[in-house]
Amino acid sequence: MKKYKAYCFDLDGTVYRGENPIVEAKEFIHYLQQQGIEPFFATNNAKMTGAQVQKKLYKMGIEAKANHIMTSAIATAKYIANHFPNKLVKVLGGDGLRQALVDAGMKIVNENPDVLVQGMNPELTYQMLADACYDVQNGAVFVATNGDIKYPSEFGFAPGNGALAELIHNVTDVAPIYIGKPAPHMLEIIRQEFNLQKEDMLMIGDNYDTDILAGINYGIDTLHVNTGVTHTKDVKAKEQPATYTVDTLLEMMK
Ligand SMILES: [Mg+2]
Repeated sequence: MKKYKAYCFDLDGTVYRGENPIVEAKEFIHYLQQQGIEPFFATNNAKMTGAQVQKKLYKMGIEAKANHIMTSAIATAKYIANHFPNKLVKVLGGDGLRQALVDAGMKIVNENPDVLVQGMNPELTYQMLADACYDVQNGAVFVATNGDIKYPSEFGFAPGNGALAELIHNVTDVAPIYIGKPAPHMLEIIRQEFNLQKEDMLMIGDNYDTDILAGINYGIDTLHVNTGVTHTKDVKAKEQPATYTVDTLLEMMK
């Protein structure tokens, strides 16, 4: 396999499952680090701050550089700071998103926002969703961290951020700007901040519809690993398959 400068790992289903590391991924990350290659991490999860992701990885024996961690919350904050500087932002998401926006220098308000940013927030109420619909109808730009419709829980599928963003979309007829994968914003921010070329970058993930499509949409090579959501046989049957498919990341060390 070709050597890359930037290996961009998805997290859930690629590097860990819940609180447990995927051992083969961890070994591959250590293998890269022994060669002086610091991996990047790109997750649609907007609930955790970058520091929380770093701590979670550290507990699993993976030392990640803080500025190599990209969550959809961090990417959303950077996107808004770039495209809507000096605008007033209302946050419908959790602490990770709020912190990322403050870190990016944005002014947070509770009323009359120029930009409404929606992220996963388990404390959302009907009233908060209704107010968000009014904000968008009053002209606020509608940005959402990620469009994941559902995620697995121990009880079955739970509604994801995309399900809630689509609720606002349905009511207002305004489609959100989705920042997370499969949109390529996270990869573009990594490329810009680290002065990379697209041919230097590889997107690694378990989910075809988010990780692999983000890489394909962005125009970089992709590696699908069969440790999570999408099965290898389904990836291979796609019109646009991944550049590489492996059962586990141990195959990358051969
Ligand atoms: Mg995943």
